[in-house]
Amino acid sequence: MSKNVEAKKSGYFPFEYYESFLKYIFHNKDHIEVITYNDIEWCDDYDHENAYKDEWENWNKKLARGEISKEKIYLLIQHDVDKSPALTTQAIEYEKKYGLKSNIMLFNKRVNRKHLQQTGEVVFDEGYISEIEAWKKYEKDGFVFCYHANSYEQANFDREKARNIFENDIKILKKIFNINFFSPHGGARCPAGLSNASLQIPESLQNDIRWVANGATVKFNGVFSDGGPNLKTIDPNKRDLKDFVASWKPGKRYRIITHPQYYVTPCSISPRLLEAKWYGEMLASYANQSNDYWDNVGLNFNEENVSKYKKIKIRLNHLSFLKNIWK
Ligand SMILES: [Zn+2]
Repeated sequence: MSKNVEAKKSGYFPFEYYESFLKYIFHNKDHIEVITYNDIEWCDDYDHENAYKDEWENWNKKLARGEISKEKIYLLIQHDVDKSPALTTQAIEYEKKYGLKSNIMLFNKRVNRKHLQQTGEVVFDEGYISEIEAWKKYEKDGFVFCYHANSYEQANFDREKARNIFENDIKILKKIFNINFFSPHGGARCPAGLSNASLQIPESLQNDIRWVANGATVKFNGVFSDGGPNLKTIDPNKRDLKDFVASWKPGKRYRIITHPQYYVTPCSISPRLLEAKWYGEMLASYANQSNDYWDNVGLNFNEENVSKYKKIKIRLNHLSFLKNIWK
């Protein structure tokens, strides 16, 4: 009960919005290939400071040589499990249903961020990891579990302690999952304004774990995140997932970061997002159960566009044929 109430308070999107997005990816599976961090060929590249330059060069060489298809769009989905793990379970289950896979960032110990920010005291959410242990079974379906680094918060902003906690978190999580990647959690900020992302990788793990998002990243041709939906610093008009999908081009690699705790039915309304037209339209569409929200989103080379192109070509050929007989 309390879990649902908590989820409801922070959920800004009906779950069906995410589910129908997955269905859209599934229907376009001939054009979109969903990949994980495990599918990326890292070439021994641990150089996060240069955004894994060797990996990106290798990827592009392979595309140029046709060893990776230039006809496909490559999509990586990352979930940051900040709270309410049951809502991530729901997302994973639907991804599995549509034959998709994702990368899931998880804590070893979840810190109550508000409490820390307001009181300076670190309090842990003991239930978090016990819910997550059951996800081990999804690894065989291709789901990739990673560390959502929050050791700086856990250490109450003591950098030395934070490094030890980081190492220990990895050690403990590795007992359950194959942890090879991490992304720092935004989380609380120390009095100097620094967050989890300000901590460097402990030396012992520098050739063991890769920093893939938030503060450092592997390269993509485009990225989208639903993080901080109420932030005044991000224009809500630029948060329309449909616009992001419509920008995709074949031969390019994209990433979507979601926080599954935001996707719950019924959801709350974000006043900040409501400033953008798309958000109101999306809410109305799912409130009416119209089920066609993604129908008009054309990929750059979907059947319709191809047939339109063919029709034009036929028309042009026909014209040149007529020109020839009139000569
Ligand atoms: Zn997070």
